[in-house]
Amino acid sequence: MNKFIFVSGGVCSSLGKGVAASSIGALLESRGLNVRMVKCDPYINVDAGTMSPYQHGEVYVTDDGAETDLDLGNYARFTKGRLSLANSITTGQVYESVIRKEREGKYLGKCVQVIPHITDEIKSRILTVANEDTDNDIVIIEIGGTVGDIESIPFLEAARQMIHEQGKKNAISVHLTLIPEVACGELKTKPTQHSVKTMLETGIQPDILICRSPVMLDEPTCRKIAQFTNVDRDAVFTSPDINTTIYQIPMVFFDQKLDEVILRKMGIESRHADMRPWHSVMEKFASRQGKVRIGVIGKYMDINDTYISLYAALFHAGLENGVNVELEKLDSSALEDKDNTDDILGKNGLNLDGILVPGGFGQRGINGMVKAAAWARENKKPYFGICLGMQIMVIEWARNVLKWTDADSTEFSPDSKHPVVSLLVEQVNVKNYGGTMRLGASETVNEEGSHIMAAYGNEKIIERHRHRYEFSNQYRNEMTNSGLKLAAFNSDGSLVECIEWPHEDHPWGCAVQFHPEYKSKPNKPSPLFKDFIAACIKEQKG
Ligand code: GLN
Repeated sequence: MNKFIFVSGGVCSSLGKGVAASSIGALLESRGLNVRMVKCDPYINVDAGTMSPYQHGEVYVTDDGAETDLDLGNYARFTKGRLSLANSITTGQVYESVIRKEREGKYLGKCVQVIPHITDEIKSRILTVANEDTDNDIVIIEIGGTVGDIESIPFLEAARQMIHEQGKKNAISVHLTLIPEVACGELKTKPTQHSVKTMLETGIQPDILICRSPVMLDEPTCRKIAQFTNVDRDAVFTSPDINTTIYQIPMVFFDQKLDEVILRKMGIESRHADMRPWHSVMEKFASRQGKVRIGVIGKYMDINDTYISLYAALFHAGLENGVNVELEKLDSSALEDKDNTDDILGKNGLNLDGILVPGGFGQRGINGMVKAAAWARENKKPYFGICLGMQIMVIEWARNVLKWTDADSTEFSPDSKHPVVSLLVEQVNVKNYGGTMRLGASETVNEEGSHIMAAYGNEKIIERHRHRYEFSNQYRNEMTNSGLKLAAFNSDGSLVECIEWPHEDHPWGCAVQFHPEYKSKPNKPSPLFKDFIAACIKEQKG
């Protein structure tokens, strides 16, 4: 079976299309179906890797090293299907390969056009995902942007063609819209009516509507929407604002029988839904007790999407440890040029139980992060460093323990006399920015007696990377002689992947060069996040 569900959005962005698409995936998986998720991004960048977090939010990295849209992270947290470069289709990739084929003379003298050449390329990429695994049942294709945007027209046109070619039972359209509330709590359906009209202009009649609304829509409103949009009444669903967690959304849709309607429309017979994993998440959510306060100290802290997988992983770790994880997102520049770190982070300030310094790029705010790491080390607060956060831990140790006051990464200070973090050898001659970092999954070998070994319970682990700089091997001896623990290496031992503060002096200081947050799931938190939160709880209790 190879069937297709196209998920589009209307009225405005940020309605939760990614979570809705992921939840549909989760519901279909709960029925025993094999689902693959695809994101179509209408931007001209070839991938998300070169975009600023302010433009784009997090860059999600797959095992095969693709730098993709953050929605792939949602897919990974809600569904099981494999995700790789093929699951992220951008306008940039599509045009790049069409233009390359044109230069190679592959179009045999034809005039190369948006229809059929660009749309054929989009369709063939979607079919590649569908055919990659023989046991695949359904591909869910989320089309980025909002219907009516100029950029998304080729993707919607490709969807229209596929729905026509595959037939109604094999390809359907799910459209997500907004039902806004105006004065006196009145819910308005007009934007949804217009949004469906815009869909009809592209030639697609939505089969299913999901209406984002502050509350569950009542029967008359659903009937009205159905009447104006040619959508069956029982195919109009609500995605209400919820104040629990996004992991409730699969249950919210299940309770409205969204999965049943999809299966009926597509003529799929399946077993009964097994929603136990989602019940279990909600049970853990409801039974959390107490809290730990984690300071996430980095850059771009005013936008939630920058570290979406990281925040998700902290949340998952809280569920597993039965505790609320309260986040204080602090721009590290707030700590720079000040001597009162403890007033800001300690008992009389944010009252933090642990510090997490996440990944990041560029010089701004670095010294503030170093201060946060020093505070955690001196005050025996658990510290978790990820990628840049590990490089910060190295710099802090070199400056404050080894007293090399100018120690730095060559990323920030190319002429430092103590370049304790420096460019990966294979990066030295790299000129292009896009797709050229150390990217994707590789093996890490953990040392006996380390926090990381205890967390994973395994000597060999696979995690994903995204960086150009690394721990400088020339300082290995001085670092270890002064007490810093080199706790994990890559498989040939040439790169340091994890460092830890001496266990006899500090309860839990651990930093890794990879990004464990990408693989964390609500029912299966990343081991290091789980242990970090456990260490925070332990220290808080004293
Ligand atoms: N800027 C650092 C590097 O490139 C860290 C990257 C990251 O945190 N993802 O090595």
